[in-house]
Amino acid sequence: MQLDDYIPIVGRSVIEDLRLLSERLSGRRIQHINSTAVGGGVAEILNRMVPLCNELGVDSRWDVITGGERFFGVTKKFHNALHGKPESLTREDFEVFVENGRLNAERTATDADIVFIHDPQPVTLIEKKSGNKWIWRCHVDVSDPLQEVWRFLADYVVRYDAAVFSAPGFSRELPMRQALISPSIDPLSDKNRDIGPDIVDAVMNKYGIPRDKPIVTQISRFDRLKDPVGVLEAYRIAKKNVDCRLVLAGGTASDDPEGAEVYQEVLEKAAGDPDVHILLMSQNDIEINALQRASDVIVQKSLKEGFGLTVTEALWKAKPVLASAVGGIPLQIRHKYSGMLCHSVDGAAFSLKQLLNSPEFAKKLGENGREHVRNNFLLTRHLRDYLLLFLSMNITGDVVYL
Ligand code: UDP
Repeated sequence: MQLDDYIPIVGRSVIEDLRLLSERLSGRRIQHINSTAVGGGVAEILNRMVPLCNELGVDSRWDVITGGERFFGVTKKFHNALHGKPESLTREDFEVFVENGRLNAERTATDADIVFIHDPQPVTLIEKKSGNKWIWRCHVDVSDPLQEVWRFLADYVVRYDAAVFSAPGFSRELPMRQALISPSIDPLSDKNRDIGPDIVDAVMNKYGIPRDKPIVTQISRFDRLKDPVGVLEAYRIAKKNVDCRLVLAGGTASDDPEGAEVYQEVLEKAAGDPDVHILLMSQNDIEINALQRASDVIVQKSLKEGFGLTVTEALWKAKPVLASAVGGIPLQIRHKYSGMLCHSVDGAAFSLKQLLNSPEFAKKLGENGREHVRNNFLLTRHLRDYLLLFLSMNITGDVVYL
């Protein structure tokens, strides 16, 4: 995939803009660091962002920190706590986090012009800062965190030169500069590109999902915060009025130890209903693309959410989306215009019935959603924001204000 391939989707001037901006960063080195190469939105974005930056002549690399079960157990607790969930953390938990960071610091060179750290897991690497610029990119909504965890992380965060949050409502008061940059999807990736009905049919056959009635789908890691059980409950209420199938599909991320447990729980709760399809999927973008396209309604009933890339992906496919009004979802969905927002199981069930009973209304929401994504949440806009951010870090000698 090359930048010019995006011209038919976003227009030539957008791509020319990117070339102009990147000329001023030519030869500069950017290093992204996160905690998983697959699974979850961060990996999804870096997978495309890094090659495109390189095509633009901005020397970009991506490193992944390592950690054992214990470390990822702690970071999962941190993640939940940053979303405001009460978690009991021990002194040992914090020590495991710091010690793992120290080991990663030893094995990771961080001498790029800009070191771009994603999320809390690698935050302690800032201890290695020496002369170059460091950015902390927070993909989580930290507007109402458990104070114990936020205060601990903030000791590291304040040493960065800049922080990036996905939306104004996600950020915290911090002493350094903040940029607000929402994430994006790649319209040409296997996850989002147009695919023919033959591929869609093949995937539905593979998973044994008949297309005899409307299909309602949630695609998410098996994570309590994605509320798969709540989706099941909403489906059960709606199904009393309108017949449909439910697909709950997802994998688990390598940095999420709770996935297998939640998957089992969902399996048990769904047992006995032949219209519920629970799919444990490996990372297979074409299959996810096909499932989204085969669906009549896409649900994302998260209790907490970062930005919610699954919503963006579904809107881009012009699907009617029913999603909780949490995290970045209200930036993507204006209620009854580009999707439906819900606040409870009953609310979700009500909207689900409405969408399934009014296909014309549902279709219009999907069309509006696609245009909203085209204008705001495609990779090219994200790339532009990052290039501007890099320029504003004064690594080129130019002074740029965001
Ligand atoms: N995803 C996937 N396989 C799965 C579940 C999710 O590839 O089994 C993808 C999904 O399509 C989306 C990303 O992982 O691109 C999830 O991002 P999101 O922001 O929705 O949630 P996160 O997992 O980062 O909390």
